[in-house]
Amino acid sequence: MIRLAGVGKTYEDGTVAVHELDLDVAAGELVVLVGPSGCGKSTTLKMINRLIEPTTGHIFIDGSDVTTVDPVHLRRGIGYVIQQIGLFPHQKILRNVMTVPLLYGESTATAKQRASELMDLVGLDPATYGERYPHELSGGQQQRVGVARALAADPPVLLMDEPFGAVDPVVRIRLQEEFLRLQRDLGKTVVLVTHDIDEAVKMGDRVAVFATGGRLAQFGTPAELLAH
Ligand code: ADP
Ligand code: ADP
Repeated sequence: MIRLAGVGKTYEDGTVAVHELDLDVAAGELVVLVGPSGCGKSTTLKMINRLIEPTTGHIFIDGSDVTTVDPVHLRRGIGYVIQQIGLFPHQKILRNVMTVPLLYGESTATAKQRASELMDLVGLDPATYGERYPHELSGGQQQRVGVARALAADPPVLLMDEPFGAVDPVVRIRLQEEFLRLQRDLGKTVVLVTHDIDEAVKMGDRVAVFATGGRLAQFGTPAELLAH
């Protein structure tokens, strides 16, 4: 589904963020990128949806080189969840989730229906929470809204950058488990970035361990990694 071949990124200031990276993610698979801060995980994720252009190598989604796909079309097929969710503070939650369907030309009624379904899907009752403003939700609830919004276009691929990083440990465990259940039902292809090795082992079908300098140290199932 996703394939990185010899992908590298050197920033304009000479920083080598990612070096000669080969990585493949099968359809429906959840691959975790884990490693210390600054080892190129976020850069890798952003190259997949072309927020950042690689300096070397190629990235394929469904067999197409991402540089040949119209970026708007590309990003429509890729949900992106980040720690700084970026909800619109002056819009109610339901309206926040409706943004994407509206952007894609759905009628208000259809967008509202779709947003309600998505809120249900991530475990937020739309009748209770839909009419609240973002600041009236807990961190964990806001993070669920972020996931709902990323799922709005029903993208086959989800990229998640420290999606559970901003909440306390108890909420984090609950969100991880909820997301794993959701992922089993929806069968999305997921690339998840974290610096938390426990999260990586718990969530990943396979785990890519990054080392400083944007090099891949290991890539395998949690069982394979723990055996070494
Ligand atoms: P991670 O997600 O693993 O924390 P990043 O991909 O964010 O790592 O960063 C990898 C390296 O690239 C780091 O050394 C970081 O400082 C550097 N870097 C990230 N973004 C930029 C940028 N826009 N310009 C220059 N260097 C950057
Ligand atoms: P979570 O475990 O999802 O992070 P919390 O324990 O923080 O949730 O919040 C528990 C309840 O308090 C939730 O129903 C949430 O909607 C409500 N709540 C949290 N923060 C606020 C707030 N600033 N205003 C109104 N209700 C809030």
